[in-house]
Amino acid sequence: MDINAFSYVVVGSGLLGSVVAERIASQLDSKVLVIEKREHIGGNCYSETDPDTGIEFHRYGTHIFHTSNEKVWNYIHRFTSLNTYRHQVLSSYKNKIYQFPINLETINSFYNMNLRPFEVDEFMSAIRDRTIKEPANFEEQAISLIGKDLYEAFFKYYTIKQWQIDPRKLPAAIFNRLPFRKNYVENYFFDQWQGIPENGYTALFQNLLSNKNIAVLLNTDFFSIRDRLKKDACIIYSGPIDRFFDYKFGKLSWRTLQFEKEILNMEDYQGNAVINYPEQEIPYTRIHEPRHLHPEKNYTKEKTLILREYSLADNGTAPFYPIASRENMEIFQRYREEAARLENVFISGRLGDYKYYDMHQTIERALEIFETGILTQTRLNNGC
Ligand code: UDP
Repeated sequence: MDINAFSYVVVGSGLLGSVVAERIASQLDSKVLVIEKREHIGGNCYSETDPDTGIEFHRYGTHIFHTSNEKVWNYIHRFTSLNTYRHQVLSSYKNKIYQFPINLETINSFYNMNLRPFEVDEFMSAIRDRTIKEPANFEEQAISLIGKDLYEAFFKYYTIKQWQIDPRKLPAAIFNRLPFRKNYVENYFFDQWQGIPENGYTALFQNLLSNKNIAVLLNTDFFSIRDRLKKDACIIYSGPIDRFFDYKFGKLSWRTLQFEKEILNMEDYQGNAVINYPEQEIPYTRIHEPRHLHPEKNYTKEKTLILREYSLADNGTAPFYPIASRENMEIFQRYREEAARLENVFISGRLGDYKYYDMHQTIERALEIFETGILTQTRLNNGC
C-alpha cells in the first residue's frame, strides 16, 4: 500500500477514529488511511466470541451503549441495531448484595428500615454532611450528598482501588456520574436509546470501516511510519496527547484495567452482567458475566464466562482512564494549547482530550470534528 497517497490519516480505530474515517470516506469521497497499533479494530469497545462458551464478551470491560442525543442516535444506528438489554448493577458489601447506584432499596436494606420515597429527604438530611457547602472533590461531594456510612461502604475503597489516589484529589464530577434514586427504580441509565449492538461491537466497527475509501493498517505504530506519510496530510489523532508531543511537558497519568477470565461449569454464576466489589480486602473492583448482556441469545446452559476486573497504573501500553487531578490537568492544558497551534492536525477522543467520555460523547465529538473542523477546512482550502 502506498501510504504516501492518503490526504487523510486517522490514528486509532476506536470510536472517534472510526466515525471520523467513515465521515471523510462517505461525505468527502476521499481516501482515508486508518492506522491502528493493536491487532484489531474498535479500540477499547472491541468485542469477541469466547471460543469455549460461544459467549460474546468485551475484552476491555463491559460497554453499554446509551444516549439521548438524537443526532448521535440517527448517525450510529445506521451501522448497528441494539438489543433490549437494560443495565442494572449490584454491589456486594459484607457478603450481602445491594442495588447500585444507591436507590431506596439500597438505603432501606443498608439501614434496615422501611422508608417511603417522601421520607427520604428528611432522612438524608440527617445523615449527610450539611457543613460542606461547596464540595471541592469526590469525597466532599459524596459525603455532602449521602453521608459518611454509605460513602465508606460503597464508594471510598472502590474509588481507591479504581484510581489509587486519595478520593479528595479526584474531581467531584466523577461522583456525579452515578445517579442517586429516592425510589425503587433500578435502571442505571434513563437514556432514550440504550442496549448492546446485536452482533457485538466489533461488527459495528466493521460496518463503520467498510467504505471502499477506507484502508486499515493494523499492528502499526503511527510514530514509526509518520515520516513516510504525505507531508500535508490531514491527521486525526486519537491516541494519548502527551505521546503525540513526545512528552515534552511531562507524562500524563492513566489507569488501565486487567481482566482475569474464568469459565465455570454452570449456567449462571451471579445472575447479573456486573457486580461491584467495593470492599478494601477484595482486590478486584467488579465481576462481569457477559452472558447477561445478550438475553436474546441462546447460549449454552453448561458453561458460563466471568471476568474479574482489576485496576492498575498504566505504564503507557493501554491507557483507559484519564486521572483528572489538578497536576495532570495543568500538564494537559499545555498540550492542548500546543495542539491548537497545529495546522492540519485534530487531536481528540478519550486519550486525545484526556477526558472521561462515554461512547455517545465520543461519537458526538467525532461528528463535531468532522463538521466544524475537517469539512470547514476542506471547503476553505480545497484540502484539509
Ligand atoms: N464508584 C464507586 N463505587 C462503585 C462504582 C463506582 O465508588 O460501586 C465510583 C468510582 O470512583 C468510579 C466512578 O464512581 O470510578 C464512576 O463509576 P462508573 O461505573 O461510571 O465507571 P466506569 O463504568 O466508567 O468504569
